[in-house]
Amino acid sequence: MKYVIIGSGAAGVNAAEIIKKNDSKGEVVIFGDERFFPYNRYQLTDFLCDSIQQEELFYISPEFFKNIGVEFRKGQYVKAINPEKKSIRLFHNEVVYYDRLLIATGGRPWLGPVLLPYKKHIRRYYSLKDICVLKKKLPHIRKCIVFGEGLSSLDLLCGLNKSGKEVTYIVKGVKPEWPLVDPELCEELCQLQKKEGIKIITEDRITTIEKEGKHFRVLTLKQRELTADIVFAWDNYKPKISCIKGTGIEKKTGILVNEHLETSVEGIYAAGDCVEIYHPGLKNYWINYGWPNAIEQGEIAGLNMTGQEKTYQVHETIEFNLMGKSLKARWWK
Ligand SMILES: Cc1cc2nc3c(=O)[nH]c(=O)nc-3n(C[C@H](O)[C@H](O)[C@H](O)COP(=O)(O)OP(=O)(O)OC[C@H]3O[C@@H](n4cnc5c(N)ncnc54)[C@H](O)[C@@H]3O)c2cc1C
Repeated sequence: MKYVIIGSGAAGVNAAEIIKKNDSKGEVVIFGDERFFPYNRYQLTDFLCDSIQQEELFYISPEFFKNIGVEFRKGQYVKAINPEKKSIRLFHNEVVYYDRLLIATGGRPWLGPVLLPYKKHIRRYYSLKDICVLKKKLPHIRKCIVFGEGLSSLDLLCGLNKSGKEVTYIVKGVKPEWPLVDPELCEELCQLQKKEGIKIITEDRITTIEKEGKHFRVLTLKQRELTADIVFAWDNYKPKISCIKGTGIEKKTGILVNEHLETSVEGIYAAGDCVEIYHPGLKNYWINYGWPNAIEQGEIAGLNMTGQEKTYQVHETIEFNLMGKSLKARWWK
C-alpha cells in the first residue's frame, strides 16, 4: 500500500508516523512545500522575540523520517491531484501515484479585494520563512501597523510590542475581539495593550498602501493617513486548497470531510486547518483551526487510511499559547 501525504505540518507529520506504526510494510511519502523540517508554528513569535532559538522550533530531528522509514520530500509543492489515475503532480511536473492520499495543507492569511492590490507592500506572518525575513528587518523598523483579526493578531501584537516597536492596531469593530472563552480576558488584554502603548484604531480599515521611500503611507476608510515602516494585514485565515481544483472533492471554504475524515472521493482523506467538518452544535460545517486539532485529526486520518474506523469528535475549545501563557480559545461563539 502506498500512502501519500500533502503537507508537512502538524497534521501531515503525525499522520505519517501513525500510518507507519500501523502498517509497517506500507510505503509512506510526505511532501511539504516549505524548505524547513517540521517546526512548532505556534512558537514562531517566541522565536521572533529571541525567547527561543531557531533550533528549538524543530520538534523532530533530521533523522526522524529515515528512522521510521518515511520518505520526506521538503521544498516540493503539489500542484494537482488526479483522483481517476490516483496520482498527484508536483510543481516540476513529476507524477507520483498513491493508493491512499491525505491532504494536510493547512491554511494561510488571506487578502480580500481591497487589500489584494497592495499585496507586495504587506508582510505575511505565518511561516518560519516569514519570521526569518522579519527578524532581519526588525532592527531597522520603528513603526508598525497591524490590521487583521484572530488569535494570530494577538500573538503578533505582543511580539512587536515586546520587541520595543511602536504599534498601531486597526480593527473593523468597535473594539478588538479575540475568540477567547473568557470574555473578561478579552477586555483585560485590550486594556493591557493600551497600557503597553499599542495605539488601537477602531471601526476603520485599510483602503490604500503606498510606498514612499523606505516607508509606507497607509490610508483608511475614515480618511486617516498613517505612516509605518512595515504593514501586516489580512482579512481572514483560509484553507490552502488550490491543489484540489478540478478533482470533484467537495468543499466550502475548506475541504469537506465526514466524521472519519474522508473526503467525498473514496481513498482521499483530509486533516488539520484545511478541513471543514460538521459541528453538531452549530448544525453546520466548521473549520477547527489549531495545533491540537491538527495533531488529533492527523492521527485519526492516519489510522483510518490503514483500514480502521476512528471517529473524530469536535472540541469546544482549543489551547492557545500566547508567548508561553496558555489561554482557552474557541473559534465559534
Ligand atoms: C503565529 C502563529 C501562532 C499560532 N499559535 C497557536 C496556538 O497557540 N495554539 C494553536 O492551537 N494554534 C496556533 N496556531 C495555529 C496552528 O499553528 C495551526 O492550526 C496548525 O499549524 C495547523 O496544522 P496543519 O498541519 O493543519 O497546517 P500547517 O501547519 O499550516 O501545515 C501545512 C503545511 O502544508 C504545506 N502545504 C500547503 N499546500 C501545499 C502543497 N500544495 N504542496 C505541498 N505542501 C503544501 C504548507 O506550506 C505547510 O507547511 C498559530 C499559528 C500561527 C501562524
